[in-house]
Amino acid sequence: MADGGGRRDIVTYGVRLHERGFVAATDGNLSARLGDKGFLATPTGLPKEELREEVVAVLDGEGRPLSGKPSSEWPMHYAIYRLRPDVGAVVHAHPPFATALACSGHAIDRPFLSEAVISLGTVPLVPFELPSTGELAERVARTLSGHDAVLMANHGAVTVGPDVRTAYYRMETLEQTARIFLYAELLGGGRPLPQDTVEHLKGLGAGYRMAELPAPVCEHCPVAAGEDGLYLRREELVKLLAEFGSLYPGMGIK
Ligand SMILES: [Zn+2]
Repeated sequence: MADGGGRRDIVTYGVRLHERGFVAATDGNLSARLGDKGFLATPTGLPKEELREEVVAVLDGEGRPLSGKPSSEWPMHYAIYRLRPDVGAVVHAHPPFATALACSGHAIDRPFLSEAVISLGTVPLVPFELPSTGELAERVARTLSGHDAVLMANHGAVTVGPDVRTAYYRMETLEQTARIFLYAELLGGGRPLPQDTVEHLKGLGAGYRMAELPAPVCEHCPVAAGEDGLYLRREELVKLLAEFGSLYPGMGIK
C-alpha cells in the first residue's frame, strides 16, 4: 500500500491550496494513506490557511475516524483509496479556471498541450451529483480508476498521486492547463496534437517524473542533508565552533 505523507504534508499543501487561490474559506480537502495503518484527512469546517498539524483527523484502515472530525467529502476520498491501491493521496479543490470549465460542461479531453499529455493525461468530466453524497463518491472514484485528475460538474476538481506533493502539483498542472485551454478557446480553439505525437509523448512519461526532495537534516531544518558538502555536518559545526571559541576566548565557547 502506498504511503502518501504525514501531517506536515497535509498542512503544507493544504495551506498552499489557499495561497494559490484554489480554495476559498472552508472549501476543499486533502488526505493521505498511511501504508496499511490508516489515513490522515483535513478536518471539516476549517479554512485551509488555518490548518495545523494537531487538527488533522486520523482514520483507521476501514476509514473510521480515530481522532478529529474528517471532511464531509471523506467518503469520496475513501472510495478512491479502495479502488486505487497505488494512490497515496487525494486532493479536492475548486480552482477557478478548472471549475469554470466544469461548470460549463467541458472536459479537458483534447491533447493540445504537450507537457500536460505527459504529466496529467486527459481529464474527464464527472456528471453533477450533490456534494458529500455516496453517489458523488462512487462516480468520482470509478472515473479515477483510469485517470489521475477529474473535473466535477458544477463543483470543482479532484487529483490523486502516490503522495500529497504529487497530488497537489497535479492540481496545479490541471489549473494551468484549464487556464490555457480557456485562452485557446477564446482565440478560436486549441489545435490537438496528432495521435502519433500523443503516443510518443505518453512514452516519455517516466523521464518527466518529479524529482524527490532530499531528506532534511532534522524535522526543524529546511535545508537538505550535506552529503554534497554544501551544508555543514554536525561534527564540522562542532569543530568550527571550537576554533571560533579558541580565537575569541571572551565569547565563552568551549
Ligand atoms: Zn468541493
